[in-house]
Amino acid sequence: MPEATGVLVVGDSIDGELSPTSRELLAVGRRAADDLGEELAISLLGDTLDVPSQQAIAFGADKVYAVTHPLLAEAQVELSLAALDSLCREAAPRVVLIGRTNEGRELAPRLAFRLGVGLAQDCLEVSIDQETRTLLANRPVYGGNAVAVVSLAYTPQIAAVRPKVYEPADPDSSRQGEVVSFPVELDDSQARSRVVNTVQEEAEGIKLEDARIVVSGGRGLGGPEPFQDLEELAKLLGGAVGASRAAVDSGWVPASYQVGLTGKTITPDLYITVAISGASQHLAGCSGSKVIVAINKDAEANIFKEARYGVIGDWEQVVPAFAEAVRELTQD
Ligand SMILES: Cc1cc2nc3c(=O)[nH]c(=O)nc-3n(C[C@H](O)[C@H](O)[C@H](O)COP(=O)(O)OP(=O)(O)OC[C@H]3O[C@@H](n4cnc5c(N)ncnc54)[C@H](O)[C@@H]3O)c2cc1C
Repeated sequence: MPEATGVLVVGDSIDGELSPTSRELLAVGRRAADDLGEELAISLLGDTLDVPSQQAIAFGADKVYAVTHPLLAEAQVELSLAALDSLCREAAPRVVLIGRTNEGRELAPRLAFRLGVGLAQDCLEVSIDQETRTLLANRPVYGGNAVAVVSLAYTPQIAAVRPKVYEPADPDSSRQGEVVSFPVELDDSQARSRVVNTVQEEAEGIKLEDARIVVSGGRGLGGPEPFQDLEELAKLLGGAVGASRAAVDSGWVPASYQVGLTGKTITPDLYITVAISGASQHLAGCSGSKVIVAINKDAEANIFKEARYGVIGDWEQVVPAFAEAVRELTQD
C-alpha cells in the first residue's frame, strides 16, 4: 500500500441525497483531517457516477470517490465490502470512519479483517492525538458503565461511530472539491447473500431519532396501556414516544422504541422519562439530550442525577396533570 494519508468517510446516500449519518461523519472527519493537516475524502458507492458529490463537498469533503460498478446498484454487503477493500488499498487512508448503522455494523469488522487492522466499535467520540497523529476513540465498555479511550496500532485506523452523536456542519455550497471516478472489478459470485425483499417499517408521526421532544416510558408504568397516555402527551408536544429496554422486553412496545446502549441513540431538545430508573445502559442512548425531565416516584432513582428537572411522584397523577397543563397552554 502507498503511504497512508488523510481521512476517509464511508458514505451512503438515500434517494439521491447524502444520508444524515454521512453528514455527521463528514463533520467529525473534517475536524480530524484538519488536526492531521490532511485531506478528507468520502466514498459513495453506486452503479453510476450520479452520486451526491457536490452535497458531500458542501458538507466538508475535499475529495469524493464515486465508486462504481453495475452490481453496486443495490446495497449488498459483500459487494460493498469488496469495493471498499479495493478503495482502501488504492487510496491508503490513515483513518476510516464508518457510521454504526445496521449496514455499518456488518461492514466495519469485515473491512478491518480484510485489511488486517483493528477496529474501534461503537465510538461515542473520535479525535486525533496531535503528538502521535493517531486516532483516539471513546467507546462504552462494561455494558455502558465506563468509557474506554482506545487507539489503534495499525493503519488504516478504522472507527465505527454511533449515529446522532455529532451534528452535521452547515453546508457551504461555495466549497470546492475533487470528484474521482473509481470503477471497481466485482463479480456476482462475491455476493453470498441476496436481498429478497425490503419492508419499510410503518411509522406514524415523527420518527424517534428525528424528534425534538421524546417522552419515554419504563417498567414502572406496569403494562402496555399507559403508553397510550404517553402517546397522547407526545402528540400534544409534537414529539415521539420511546421506551426503556425493560418495557420493550416486557412486550409492551416494539423494539424500535428502545432507547439506550442496545437501542437507539437520540439527542432531542427535551427528553421526558416516565417511570424509568436511569440505568447507565439507558442513559447511554439519551445523555446527549439538551434537557432531561424525570418523573419517578423514587427520589433516589439514578435518573435524577442526570435530569435538569425532576418530579418525584406517581406517574398516574403527574402525567395526566402535565398533559392537561400542556393542553391549556397550547389551546390559547
Ligand atoms: C448489555 C446490556 C444492555 C442494555 N441495554 C439497554 C438499553 O439499550 N436500554 C435500556 O433502557 N436498558 C438497557 N439495559 C437494561 C438496563 O440495565 C435496565 O435494566 C433498564 O434500563 C431498566 O429499565 P427501567 O428503568 O424501565 O426499569 P427499572 O429499573 O425497573 O425502573 C423502573 C422505575 O420506575 C419507577 N416507578 C415505579 N412505579 C412508578 C410510578 N407509579 N410512578 C413513577 N415512577 C415509578 C421506579 O421507582 C423505578 O425507578 C441493558 C442492560 C444490559 C446488561
